[in-house]
Amino acid sequence: MDYKFNILMVSSEMTPFAKTGGLGDVVGALPKALKNRGHNIAVVLPKYSFIDTGEYDIRPLNHPMCVHMGNKEEWCSVHQTFVDGVPVYFIEQNDYFDREGLYHDKKMNDYSDNPRRFAFLCSAALQFCIDKNFSPHIVHANDWQTALLPAYLKIGNWYNTVFEHTASVLTIHNLAFQGVYSAANYNYTGLGLENFTLDKFEYYGAMNYLKGGIYFADMVNTVSPTYAREISTHDLGNGLDIALRAKGDRFWGILNGVDYDIWSPEYDRYIPAHYSVDYMDGKIECKRKLQQIFNLREDPFVPILGVVGRFSSQKGYHLLAQIFEEMINSMHVQFVILGTGDKELENFYNQMSYKYGSRVGAYIGFSEELAHLIEAGSDFFIMPSIFEPCGLNQIYSLRYGTIPIVRATGGLNDTVENYNEYTGEGTGFKFWEPTPYSLYYTIGWAVSTYYDRPYHMEKLVKNAMNQRFSWDMSAEEYEYAYVRALT
Ligand code: ADP
Repeated sequence: MDYKFNILMVSSEMTPFAKTGGLGDVVGALPKALKNRGHNIAVVLPKYSFIDTGEYDIRPLNHPMCVHMGNKEEWCSVHQTFVDGVPVYFIEQNDYFDREGLYHDKKMNDYSDNPRRFAFLCSAALQFCIDKNFSPHIVHANDWQTALLPAYLKIGNWYNTVFEHTASVLTIHNLAFQGVYSAANYNYTGLGLENFTLDKFEYYGAMNYLKGGIYFADMVNTVSPTYAREISTHDLGNGLDIALRAKGDRFWGILNGVDYDIWSPEYDRYIPAHYSVDYMDGKIECKRKLQQIFNLREDPFVPILGVVGRFSSQKGYHLLAQIFEEMINSMHVQFVILGTGDKELENFYNQMSYKYGSRVGAYIGFSEELAHLIEAGSDFFIMPSIFEPCGLNQIYSLRYGTIPIVRATGGLNDTVENYNEYTGEGTGFKFWEPTPYSLYYTIGWAVSTYYDRPYHMEKLVKNAMNQRFSWDMSAEEYEYAYVRALT
């Protein structure tokens, strides 16, 4: 595409600075891919106090910045660094971002001022463009935290300013999180009561950031084609299907890519040995290390089933929990589990690792390093999601020759090709019914393939490792989205 855009990307997460899930990985990679395609892109993030300024060479820009929230003036400062040549600007406002977590405290209680924190981020990002005289063709918002941006751009009078010709794109990374808060917070946003209506921000008497963002955005996308179709339906639309359908051809799905500089067995900086599709010895070493770290019996011939993810009802780990002991008692396998979230599930998987010590390992918490080792050292990777906007771990798994076992929903359906027992084709194992026993039998199918049809396993691993979901391809699709937004 010949167009070269000025793009302002605003987000609450970005790898390597702040991440709770896929949003961080996407914002860590997409700007780089867009820059490599010739666009002029800058990213704006909150300056959470846990971000290590020394480690990332983050430096203050020289003057304080005044941000108008309604009629109120608030002050912040801006800091800057570069990631792979992409400028990243941090909004420092300690009342809002000097917290131990991104969205909630250690006990998982949402910060009560979240609507104010992220409304402020949006206004500050726009003010920053004005102060810096940066005129974006596109303001790219991500999820509810930055969904006020399209509204600010449409509602404000930007005649003769840097935003005179700016269009907005809103990417929905997960429709389950909408930013629904008491209407008492609405005044602070400065959006005007005329926009607190059923078609815009009002939602059963509360305000809904994502709903308003969808209404005002020039283009909305989500992160896989299947998820885009799913959330346009009443059953899976989380109450916003009507708003999404109303966008017509200004709403579609763009599959996420993978940053293969970070997630590939040839270059991964966290794993003990590297390997490639033509030279797999390193994977055996990674498996051995994984068994050591999780105190599992060291055995290269028993398949390891890996799990990494948020313990939330979305991810379907409760299905796994229901069949877990039956599986342990009927299949010759080992399990490695990394996750955090739901306390019951945390306790359950912890207990399982005590009870079946040499066969089950669990780490309750967040560890980038272990996530990489599990991808590299496991034989299978389980994602039984009830819904999945895109899912990144199954795509990482493919690259590491760790065969995904997934429920055929959203991006999982778009990225994994089901194993064909007759031809050996495919890249993983799929099931459809969100029930414990569908998962049980599919795991059984995978494990029996491992033991009984090793030649097919080899083929699956090769097929999987040869798949590519590059960010360059996705970035090209985002260019079409930008053009759609501007027309
Ligand atoms: P979601 O965004 O819904 O959480 P994705 O599959 O899109 O799911 O992305 C999850 C990302 O977060 C992956 O990079 C995964 O490795 C990482 N992740 C999730 N839980 C953990 C954890 N406990 N420790 C380390 N990384 C994690």
